[in-house]
Amino acid sequence: EALRARVREAIRSVPDFPKEGILFRDITPVLADAELFRAASALHHSHVADLAEQVDVIVGMESRGFLFGPILAQQLGAAFVPARKPGKLPAATVEERYALEYGENALQMHADAFAEGARVLVVDDLLATGGTAAATGRLIERLGGTVLAYLFLIELDFLNGREVLGGARVEAVLHF
Ligand code: IMP
Repeated sequence: EALRARVREAIRSVPDFPKEGILFRDITPVLADAELFRAASALHHSHVADLAEQVDVIVGMESRGFLFGPILAQQLGAAFVPARKPGKLPAATVEERYALEYGENALQMHADAFAEGARVLVVDDLLATGGTAAATGRLIERLGGTVLAYLFLIELDFLNGREVLGGARVEAVLHF
């Protein structure tokens, strides 16, 4: 728990990024310290340790889900599958769109990313409104997968993002 507090303290809060009124939680100081990055990975793992035998696939969302997802996949002996912004994945894809505060975005996964029936853990750095995670969950279900849980380093509690995840299990290492 001392390490959890140190990881929390290392997260930098940047006012008015990417636009006025947003307090951006910046995880790069955690990545820049090997001990804290290792601690963050260990904390991630501790939140889903009970799922270790069940997880087939970790899906990480571009871009910061790519920082934590593969480490956890290796720890759990699971596959890693990226969910990417449109136009990045080379083979046949499926796509889900989601609303942003201003405008719309989309994520794609390879149509053959995992076998039907796969049990999936979704990993990203931060849960805000939940739009990104919900779109990822829809992609996984369209491909015949089952979402076991959503895992984040940070949850912004005041945005109630977990409510758009349909009662799924949601784990977060830190809450702001
Ligand atoms: P949501 O779709 O509103 O839940 O936003 C989550 C996505 O936006 C994640 O992929 C995050 O990486 C990113 N994001 C939103 N707010 C922040 C922040 O304060 N710090 C870092 N990433 C953020």
